[in-house]
Amino acid sequence: MPESLVDITRVPGMKGIRREGDVIHIGPATTFSELVESPIIRDDAFLLAQAALSVGSPQIRNRGTVGGNIVKGSPAADSVPSLMALEAKLRLVSKAGERELSLEEFLVGICKTTIEPGEVLAGISFQALAPRTRQRFCQVGPTQCTCNFAGQRGGYRRL
Ligand SMILES: Cc1cc2nc3c(=O)[nH]c(=O)nc-3n(C[C@H](O)[C@H](O)[C@H](O)COP(=O)(O)OP(=O)(O)OC[C@H]3O[C@@H](n4cnc5c(N)ncnc54)[C@H](O)[C@@H]3O)c2cc1C
Repeated sequence: MPESLVDITRVPGMKGIRREGDVIHIGPATTFSELVESPIIRDDAFLLAQAALSVGSPQIRNRGTVGGNIVKGSPAADSVPSLMALEAKLRLVSKAGERELSLEEFLVGICKTTIEPGEVLAGISFQALAPRTRQRFCQVGPTQCTCNFAGQRGGYRRL
């Protein structure tokens, strides 16, 4: 057990979804249910809403966060393929400063990430998709060995 636990869910800016111009920003403490219900995500990044809806059960979607899903580094994380297809950037902050990484730079193995001690995932951002962009998230295979695919703009990514 860790010596202490920090609840980041009420830190300002850690929760919520907003659009600034063409860029969508998601606070890492945003839950899957909030992603599913967000008009911004449904209208401008539907494949992420599809991925969030595929997570567990309503109870899990109401508690599980997109930030926790990413930082855990699980290859079964449903949010990751869609965020990769959206070319999302992660903003990591610590007392030492701030850096921005792609998911490919952040996730380096099964449950292995490049997060440093003292760092917090503080934001996830990506370009909103153009209207009528073809996009889709789907799971392929039986539940215990599911592959997740997500694609947009003609390119497909598999995790
Ligand atoms: C029954 C069940 C079914 C599930 N089904 C699915 C599923 O179908 N698909 C799926 O993708 N997931 C599934 N999950 C996983 C779950 O939905 C969450 O994505 C995952 O457990 C993360 O949970 P959390 O948001 O509570 O993060 P936590 O458990 O709180 O965090 C996970 C890790 O990330 C760290 N962390 C969290 N946020 C940050 C941050 N902002 N900065 C730095 N570090 C951070 C925490 O310290 C911890 O080490 C399931 C889980 C359960 C229990």
